[in-house]
Amino acid sequence: MSEDCLFCKIIDGDIPATKVLENEHVVAFRDIAPKAPVHVLVIPRTHVKDVAAAAAEVPQELAAMALAAQEIADAECGGEFRWVFNTGASAGQSVFHVHGHVLGGTELEWNPA
Ligand code: AMP
Repeated sequence: MSEDCLFCKIIDGDIPATKVLENEHVVAFRDIAPKAPVHVLVIPRTHVKDVAAAAAEVPQELAAMALAAQEIADAECGGEFRWVFNTGASAGQSVFHVHGHVLGGTELEWNPA
């Protein structure tokens, strides 16, 4: 838990979110500003800043994030989805508790720039 982390507060229930999946390793909730019909954020319970830190420090939780992403996509968008990790401010990361964006539910375009 990091005291000033928005997503740690969502894990703890101190800030409300629409949670769609929770287990011992991860929490998943709907993005407050969805960019696709399905837009869910999957986060590890451990506070780490980005996907490489997750791989190095909590690989079991990173693996659980992947399984959760697939489970959500299976339930909500036919099992097909895009999984995005914005890493660093210039790439669009605004919350420094690693989160995978699960995007789907439509034909996704491929032009992030
Ligand atoms: P990123 O810009 O990759 O760091 O993603 C952060 C995401 O968190 C953005 O897509 C925001 O819309 C989303 N977000 C910010 N605050 C909340 C919140 N309270 N509940 C759900 N999603 C949020």
